[in-house]
Amino acid sequence: ATPTALMAGIGRGAQLGILIKGPDALESSRRIDTVVLDKTGTVTTGRMTVTGCHPAAGRTRGDLLWFAGAVEAGSEHAIAAAVVAAARAEVAELPEAGGFTALPGLGARGIVDGRDVLVGSARLFGERGIAVTGETAARVEAAHTAAAVPVLVAVDGEVAGMVEVRDVVKPSAAEAVHALRARGLRTVLLTGDHENAARAVAGETGIDEVRAGVLPADKAREIEEMRAAGARVAMVGDGVNDGPALATADLGMAMARGSDIALRSADVVLVRDDLRVVPDAIHLADRTLRVIR
Ligand code: ADP
Ligand code: MG
Repeated sequence: ATPTALMAGIGRGAQLGILIKGPDALESSRRIDTVVLDKTGTVTTGRMTVTGCHPAAGRTRGDLLWFAGAVEAGSEHAIAAAVVAAARAEVAELPEAGGFTALPGLGARGIVDGRDVLVGSARLFGERGIAVTGETAARVEAAHTAAAVPVLVAVDGEVAGMVEVRDVVKPSAAEAVHALRARGLRTVLLTGDHENAARAVAGETGIDEVRAGVLPADKAREIEEMRAAGARVAMVGDGVNDGPALATADLGMAMARGSDIALRSADVVLVRDDLRVVPDAIHLADRTLRVIR
């Protein structure tokens, strides 16, 4: 009866848009009690847009977008795509950046027109000891409070301004979280983003807990800590950054539009970009396993 139950579970999943990756995929998943959701691209659409452009004193809007766009053209991050789109719309021609370096969970760096250009979060600037002052500091604070992402730009170590980027919560997110909580599952939002942005998204969707400011390399460790404390964890993610966390969770679920690495690390792939299948997937995994054992 065991293989039959498993095949039935896999078949039922396929109908719902839930791809269970073979018999071994569910082997490590025990009854789930905690669902960890990545923020960007999972709970939010990940389709970001630039909502403000704030050059520092002595800089123009065009300058700011020219430097930021050139560096971000080398990045795969959804934030970078938004900055590049805004730059292309306003700047005649973007130069090619040299020596591009991605700084996962923080930003990016490159050489533009012989200048050393750094783009990224307030945390990145704090770590590099680049002082953000005056009008720019006020804009950064306002962006954090409004749950927007401030992308700071420095040219040769001097702040050139800030580009504000925003993302929206997926229409299916609140309903999915409600269904998870109705099943008695604890929900946790895990993100590298700022605490305020994370809190705003958690508030909008009803997610119980927030773990913000977690760098990509530390996401798996957060999951490990929850498991060590006795939780049985399902992780839902999409990004390159989520691969190790998906592999560490008892049940790793990747959104199908996510990165190859996320898809490879997951036990379950969600075909549709609709979070409402998450509770179905957990229920299905649980039921299939219970029949098997
Ligand atoms: P999440 O965990 O929500 O998917 P990430 O870990 O990918 O977010 O990124 C965390 C933060 O790092 C972002 O909110 C942003 O402030 C900053 N960041 C990362 N990559 C970039 C980039 N290419 N350009 C600007 N900022 C970035
Ligand atoms: Mg993400």
